[in-house]
Amino acid sequence: MHADLHLHTNFSDGTYSPEELAAQAVRCGLEAIALTDHDTVEGCERTRIACEAGGVEFITGTELTAEQDDHELHILGYFVNVENPKFRVEIGRFQEVRQNRIREMVSRLNRVNVPLTSEEVFALANCRSPGRPHVARALVKGGFCSSLDEAFERFLKKNRPAWVPKFKMSASEAIDLIHHAGGVAVMAHPGLNRSDEVIPGMADAGLDGLECFHTKHSTATTEHYLGLAERYQLLVTGGSDCHGLSKGKPLIGTIKLPYEHVERLKQRVRRNLEASPAPTAV
Ligand code: AMP
Ligand code: ZN
Ligand code: FE
Ligand code: FE
Repeated sequence: MHADLHLHTNFSDGTYSPEELAAQAVRCGLEAIALTDHDTVEGCERTRIACEAGGVEFITGTELTAEQDDHELHILGYFVNVENPKFRVEIGRFQEVRQNRIREMVSRLNRVNVPLTSEEVFALANCRSPGRPHVARALVKGGFCSSLDEAFERFLKKNRPAWVPKFKMSASEAIDLIHHAGGVAVMAHPGLNRSDEVIPGMADAGLDGLECFHTKHSTATTEHYLGLAERYQLLVTGGSDCHGLSKGKPLIGTIKLPYEHVERLKQRVRRNLEASPAPTAV
């Protein structure tokens, strides 16, 4: 039995609808999947319904953008209660930050004579959690760039004309928010962050796991993080980080996480709830 615990839909910057994603999970023969859209859980309900119809176990999730010691980190939250009021308010704020950032990026593009409008980007994104990939797609659609890569290279990468820094919560705030909503917190793709030095502090702050298996981790990188997970007593997760067709071939199913790791995540959810019994009610 296998799971893919890192997937995106068009509720953030993936291209699949929840129903298409669930159909792909069935096609790949996955027993369980988690949806981890950036700073949102909006797609979870539809994905759950479609997964249940296809006989695939669904795990609620999100991928929060955070920072620690000047490193951008992505924190995966699994099994969060999406009805938790504080969680809803907080992720609503992060979505607002993302929307305002799109407006600022567009106004910077206008300053360098690219006449894109925020409305075009919002119409194309059609979600509450838009990001740079949507601006890149709008630039290609408008004929201002010939590829997404060119859009990032010319305009959207750090220190390019339309780059706008994003307000981020600290990693420990992200961990606390996920715990408050009854979930478990996992550092996404640590091999892409090049910031192993933050891991011990995050483990002290309550981090539950490390995403050791990821499409962009080599075998050596995976082994390295399996070692760190053992050293800091962190759970092990893995996922493909599939964004549908936006990055070429769909990646779903290219990481097959043994189901025993899902069982351990569930044990941790129960343990965390027993340690602080009321957090989801507040
Ligand atoms: P944002 O959260 O709005 O800053 O957007 C970050 C997303 O942009 C990441 O999830 C990447 O998938 C995507 N991205 C970053 N750099 C590039 C690039 N050079 N080409 C294509 N996509 C990129
Ligand atoms: Zn993404
Ligand atoms: Fe990420
Ligand atoms: Fe991701």
